[in-house]
Amino acid sequence: MFDFIYRHILIRGFETAVKRRKTFAYWRDLERSQWLSGDELRDMQSGSLQKLLSHAASNCTYYRDAWRGMGFDPRDIRTPANLHHLPIIDRDTIRSNRLMMRAEPALPLLRKATGGSSGVPLEFDLDHDSLDRRYAAWHRGYDWAGAGPGTRQWHLWGGTVGNPPRAKRAKDLLYQRLYRRSMASSFGLSAATVEKYLESLNRCRPQAIVAYTNPLYDFALALEERGLIPFSPRSILVGAEKLHGFQREVIERVFRAPVFETYGSREFMLIGSECDRHSGLHLTMEDLVVEIVDDAGRPVAEGEEGNVVVTDLTNYGMPFIRYQNGDRAVAGAETCPCGRGLPLLKKIVGRQLDMLDTPDGRRIPGEVFPHLIKDYRAIRRFQVVQFDPAAIQLRLVVGTDWNESMWHELERNLVQIVGPDVRLEMALVDDIPLTAAGKRRVVVRHPSPDATQKKD
Ligand SMILES: [Zn+2]
Repeated sequence: MFDFIYRHILIRGFETAVKRRKTFAYWRDLERSQWLSGDELRDMQSGSLQKLLSHAASNCTYYRDAWRGMGFDPRDIRTPANLHHLPIIDRDTIRSNRLMMRAEPALPLLRKATGGSSGVPLEFDLDHDSLDRRYAAWHRGYDWAGAGPGTRQWHLWGGTVGNPPRAKRAKDLLYQRLYRRSMASSFGLSAATVEKYLESLNRCRPQAIVAYTNPLYDFALALEERGLIPFSPRSILVGAEKLHGFQREVIERVFRAPVFETYGSREFMLIGSECDRHSGLHLTMEDLVVEIVDDAGRPVAEGEEGNVVVTDLTNYGMPFIRYQNGDRAVAGAETCPCGRGLPLLKKIVGRQLDMLDTPDGRRIPGEVFPHLIKDYRAIRRFQVVQFDPAAIQLRLVVGTDWNESMWHELERNLVQIVGPDVRLEMALVDDIPLTAAGKRRVVVRHPSPDATQKKD
């Protein structure tokens, strides 16, 4: 009953009448289009793509010049399958060409920024209509997981950095009330505060928990270790960080509720999310073209891993066309047993950064480390730091049950993966700080590839 009042009266009223957003109308459209067939959705997407490309070629100096220079006519591209003829852009492209990427005549724009794992923020622009559509896609995806607008939610999310003005804090608080959200900052979670967080969760009695993956996993482990039983919500949504299978298991066991993985970014908001069949992440296909490509920008075969490249079909103010966001994923065009026509992304592999180079020229996905280390319960947290291809440091936060022979065993296992030419060093530390965005970096490479990438 409360859900209904919040969703259909309070939140819709606020968004539509007060903020004058078209979010709820767009959401209604998306609820319909998700059930179209794959072919119908592809036609729809191709139509939007053609419109976007001709808009960018006529109105954005950057795209017009770049494409003209290579003799490209946007009318040559009729479907997303031909998109790979266009160049890929990345954070550096936007940093260097932001003003020229904006459309002329200018639309009213919102300025946004993303932190990024390199710590260097990226600023970009977004038009208002695109924002409304993003919110709509977000409502739809969260609703699949039982966390649509109007449901009571407990968020374990990156907290506010710094000290925002009081008016902003008051506004945020009102907004959270309206959306029935109780916010707990992932920054503050530590061994000393576990019970405080448990109390906050139990007091909220949420229908859904929405959380960064790693802090929620840490929280679940800590609760289990102390034999504390938390309130069990109907569902749990995780995002912002990659979810490993073993993490899903622990979180589901401790909170006794299904976990839904979501995948999004500041640049596009919700890119994909799971429905109740949990067979992959449904892509927001009406608004985005998501390609999985090799290092030359060509689509990889189904089932293979590649770079995630996104084209935003809605942001006419500053178009993102073939933007490589630094994530890796496995391509797949499977359909879901739920009957929705939206294609599934098979798997998010992780950040491109989470790769280590070896002296013999191999690239090791950072994913191997959590898999190897999860079997050592004595290791509470860890971080792998590579200074150069020949040296890797493992920073470990350990419990009293830790002993030296565990390190030797771990070292033996690691040598098999990284090879004998890499010097492995262990550093026992008290804590591993989170990034400014409240995320945990599992693998850190110095110098980071982000900083050394060549400008194009
Ligand atoms: Zn589905």
